Amino acid sequence: MSVLLLTHRACLHHDPGPHHPECPDRLRAVLQALDAGEFADLIRDQAPQATREQLMRVHPENYVDAILAIRPEPDERVALDGDTLMSWGSAEAALRAAGAAVAAVDAVMQGEFRRAFCATRPPGHHCEPARPMGFCLFANAAVAARHAQAVHGAARVAVVDFDVHHGNGTQACFETEPSLFYASSHQWPLYPGTGDVTETGVGNILNVTLPPGADGAAFRAAWGEQIIPALDDFDPDLLVISAGFDAHAADPLAQLRVREADFAWVTEALCAMADRRCGGKVVSLLEGGYDLEALGRSTAAHVRALMRA
Ligand SMILES: [Zn+2]
Repeated sequence: MSVLLLTHRACLHHDPGPHHPECPDRLRAVLQALDAGEFADLIRDQAPQATREQLMRVHPENYVDAILAIRPEPDERVALDGDTLMSWGSAEAALRAAGAAVAAVDAVMQGEFRRAFCATRPPGHHCEPARPMGFCLFANAAVAARHAQAVHGAARVAVVDFDVHHGNGTQACFETEPSLFYASSHQWPLYPGTGDVTETGVGNILNVTLPPGADGAAFRAAWGEQIIPALDDFDPDLLVISAGFDAHAADPLAQLRVREADFAWVTEALCAMADRRCGGKVVSLLEGGYDLEALGRSTAAHVRALMRA
């Protein structure tokens, strides 16, 4: 069965400013990497805009309204915190990023596709219900999980996150909800400072920390020995992956030493878990990754694994 690739040109028009690591060229690098002949079998579609109703399953109405009301003039920006900025195109980009996640859930839950990948930005895993943070404006993965529950009757949804940073936002959305599971591997210590192993929610949060310098073997051990067994125990009806590639050795924002082959390995292991537990249903969302060449190669390895697994 083919893999669905959702993206939208509007995601290039979110511009947090010169020298900002979360730049439009990131998405260009990803799409260029997925343009090779081996990816000809991807089914490509345009990401729709999320609706207010979809966003409000996670975010308070006044938060959604406030973000969507920020429409700076061209060449101007509004800073929401020190590193989270909005340009004139940011609101639509954020709606497309969340909308892609929702559309991917629809396609996978309806059985049209087993796997879907959303090549979108801004990312989402640092955004809390009522607080933009860490380059993120809406909590895309949490919106996807809630949509699967509300519209498709999924009883349990798991979000796993191999971005090098802890997804404090997704955790904040999930930590009192036993029908939702969140697991993350991340460098510790590192931004945003959350994700200690003692943060376990209502038994539905699993944080695995890796020290600076940890390599692919440590990364694979975290997933193979801790996170995937916990996913099997949780037994989800859908798996959502927060696929950040900034654990790569070349990434400028962190100090792990993960390689493309490790991202392929974890992707295949997660798909195998999904095959055992939920008919193979996997929705993957682009999060971080700030070395453009490593990001392109890592995303290609991830999507290649989604296609063959
Ligand atoms: Zn990150």
